[in-house]
Amino acid sequence: MPAKKLIVTLPGDGIGPEVTAAAVAVLREVAPELSFEEHLLGGVAIDRTGDPFPQQTQDALKSADAVLLGTVGGAQNSPWNSLPRHLRPESGLLKLRKLLGVYANLRPVRVQPGLEHLSPLRPELARGVDILIVRELLGGIYFDADRKIEGSAAYNTMRYTTPEVERIAKVAFWAAEQRKGRVTSVDKANVLEVSELWRRDVTALRDRDYRSIHLNHEYVDSVAMLIVSNPSRYDVIVTENLFGDILSDLAAVIPGSLGLMPSASLGDGAGLFEPIHGSAPDIAGQGVANPAAAIMSAAMLLRHGLDMPHIAAKIDGAVSQALREKPTRDLGGTASTQEFTDAVLKALDRAA
Ligand code: ATP
Ligand code: MG
Repeated sequence: MPAKKLIVTLPGDGIGPEVTAAAVAVLREVAPELSFEEHLLGGVAIDRTGDPFPQQTQDALKSADAVLLGTVGGAQNSPWNSLPRHLRPESGLLKLRKLLGVYANLRPVRVQPGLEHLSPLRPELARGVDILIVRELLGGIYFDADRKIEGSAAYNTMRYTTPEVERIAKVAFWAAEQRKGRVTSVDKANVLEVSELWRRDVTALRDRDYRSIHLNHEYVDSVAMLIVSNPSRYDVIVTENLFGDILSDLAAVIPGSLGLMPSASLGDGAGLFEPIHGSAPDIAGQGVANPAAAIMSAAMLLRHGLDMPHIAAKIDGAVSQALREKPTRDLGGTASTQEFTDAVLKALDRAA
């Protein structure tokens, strides 16, 4: 019998423990073959060990098949604002991403049926929006070593290599195969050579290995307009680090609540799955946080991290149902974290 898959959970700070507990409860229900091990990261790790990313957590990650993260924010009991930068809570998160080598960031942007009214877009535009943004996370202008500020001049360099483009494009094509089979690659090939290479390599990979995928190329400025004026034209969007950073935050406002936004970061080893919202200290410990983003991140863990797409789809369906039946406060409802989680578990039960 194959060994049980190990999920390392890092609940973190603020509402992190509450929403992570909800996600774990759902995973235990649908995938009893998983095992869980909880470790420290962020402010809570500083409080207990003085280090935002303790050695014990780093060691635990070596045997993890996937990592489920809550949120990382402030330490409760340490004067962390006065700590050196490398000992602050967020530095733990940066080191974690680096250690896992996650080069692909996946952000689904989905308007939930029945929750169109939360979107800043008109309901007829918001209805049915279901986009997956795949952003390159380790390369490009943010990381290139060729950078300098010299007196009254400064520069950074956007550089990509064919292997870097191919590995991120593969993630996008693979995700599209499980969806509608359409990929839009976003670049600025009318002015940037690096985009010319990007476009050439993405096209070559599709022609070689993913002929069933419909691929088109669009300029980032045009996508910024169309993603809010005609979002249903997109299925999977793949783009480089800087463009993806901006587009994914732009698109994140479409569903209308931070509590609805999951994410996955994938590399060649264990992936990292986390809600995009912060630690929300204003509501922490009150049992009212919306755990939907964390639960949908758990679904992404099954879909992209462990190759269990059917169970992932069940969770997504149950979350959609619970959102209609038991909306939490951030969605204009009254359900607590526990009541929402129970509604998800019940919906799973009915589907079984
Ligand atoms: P951090 O410093 O960790 O980013 P933050 O205060 O910026 O924390 P965010 O998570 O970015 O917190 O949240 C912004 C607002 O949205 C807060 O008022 C918070 O209560 C609310 N919020 C965020 N996530 C959720 C959630 N899952 N459920 C309910 N409300 C949420
Ligand atoms: Mg924040």
